[in-house]
Amino acid sequence: MGEGMRKDGIAAGRLAPADYARNFSDLHPPLDRHEAFVEADRCYFCFDAPCMTACPTSIDIPMFIREISTGNPLGAAETIFEQNILGGMCARVCPTEQLCEEACVRMEAEGKPVKIGQLQRYATDIAMDGGAQFFARGVETGKRIAVVGAGPAGLSAAHRLSMHGHDVVMFDARPKAGGLNEYGIASYKTPGGFAQAEVDYVTGIGGISIVNDKTLGQDFSLTELRDQYDAVFLGMGLGGVNALRAEGETAEGVVNAVDFIAELRQASDVSALPVGRRVVVIGGGMTAIDAAVQSKLLGAEQVTMAYRRGKESMNASEFEQDLAASKGVSIRHWMAPKRVVVQYGKVAGIELEYTAMVDGRLVGIGETVLVECDQVMKAIGQVLASDGDGVVLAGGKIEVDAEGRTSVDGVWAGGDCATGGDDLTVTAVAEGRDAAESINRWLTAAP
Ligand SMILES: Cc1cc2nc3c(=O)[nH]c(=O)nc-3n(C[C@H](O)[C@H](O)[C@H](O)COP(=O)(O)OP(=O)(O)OC[C@H]3O[C@@H](n4cnc5c(N)ncnc54)[C@H](O)[C@@H]3O)c2cc1C
Ligand code: SF4
Repeated sequence: MGEGMRKDGIAAGRLAPADYARNFSDLHPPLDRHEAFVEADRCYFCFDAPCMTACPTSIDIPMFIREISTGNPLGAAETIFEQNILGGMCARVCPTEQLCEEACVRMEAEGKPVKIGQLQRYATDIAMDGGAQFFARGVETGKRIAVVGAGPAGLSAAHRLSMHGHDVVMFDARPKAGGLNEYGIASYKTPGGFAQAEVDYVTGIGGISIVNDKTLGQDFSLTELRDQYDAVFLGMGLGGVNALRAEGETAEGVVNAVDFIAELRQASDVSALPVGRRVVVIGGGMTAIDAAVQSKLLGAEQVTMAYRRGKESMNASEFEQDLAASKGVSIRHWMAPKRVVVQYGKVAGIELEYTAMVDGRLVGIGETVLVECDQVMKAIGQVLASDGDGVVLAGGKIEVDAEGRTSVDGVWAGGDCATGGDDLTVTAVAEGRDAAESINRWLTAAP
């Protein structure tokens, strides 16, 4: 343990420079050519492949693996991008152990699936590094579509709309495009500026312009967009954060996990980022795991995750939970925050109450434990930041039908901000693509 780890409070520079470099390098180093061939050879090229059914974007997985095995990685990349233009990012961040790899017949037979995600990364990296573009912009239609939010859903929609020849203007509240690929996903999953490289790759098709620092609801309204554009796609994710609703929540040292992660993702020097000596993360999803793991990688001595239900209810995958445990994060279940202990205006600890299911309801059982800490990170879910600006909401999200149509004529939505589907990058890509197809059908339908 380095000396810096024992600095009390919230401090930067807890580790030696080499430790930072090691901690924030690629989680899964890419396969080399030989490894890719060996792995591709493990595929049975199943008919009615279950891996393909399990992929939210329905990538033809046996086809692209065969293309790799026959020495055609560019063909493989084209197969992937046909369904999922953000296939490079998804290869890095998809919880494959819950999707395609869980369904792989090799998983059932041997407990060792074909490394589909790694193979996808192998093919897409070759194509993107070589600047290979497989799709041309369609013949110009003269139609203009506004896309709000340049995250995975918006980018995927924009690319497909451009393929159909429509002009796309993307508006994003943040200074950079990419959404949570740029500001949220753990840095060890997507190092080296990949998110920006992917935005450039996707917009490389042409016909797409991005306007940053422009927020729907502040700088312009949905009504204005509907007046000025032929159709609108809303892909603005979930920008708000749930409150802990615990005493002391406003003390110095209580932070939103997504803000901590965004700062980390944008830092040019991670050693300058302050982190607590003892950190408690509240939540059981991917955001909680990422905040906990990255706190540890920044040199926090002790990191505890507290989740109010049991392990089986955690949104974070088994792989993510194991990753956290392997980095020294302690995950505690059946505990909910009751009170942040504050001394001299700063966090000094958190009182957690044990919970249990009683008559189908989660309740505190009155018994508490005090965990000393200098920093509390809130990761108990994101919510829609706006009131929908006129579109009907359901369960706190924008209500959409199977094609992504909202309650307002000419307005579609997809990704995290819309109802249906998991809050995953790959689902956002699928919904953006499918909404774009629906918009195109609507625009080109005979009057
Ligand atoms: C910390 C964290 C880690 C995650 N890790 C993973 C992972 O490993 N794997 C995985 O599959 N998924 C992961 N997810 C989930 C995944 O990132 C999301 O499901 C995905 O990014 C959703 O894409 P989206 O396009 O719907 O929204 P976002 O990616 O949230 O993009 C929305 C965009 O809209 C913009 N915007 C918001 N409001 C407005 C407005 N009013 N006007 C204009 N623009 C606006 C935002 O600036 C943003 O650029 C993670 C999420 C978080 C928070
Ligand atoms: S299920 Fe596994 S073995 Fe079958 S096609 Fe998919 S990756 Fe190959």
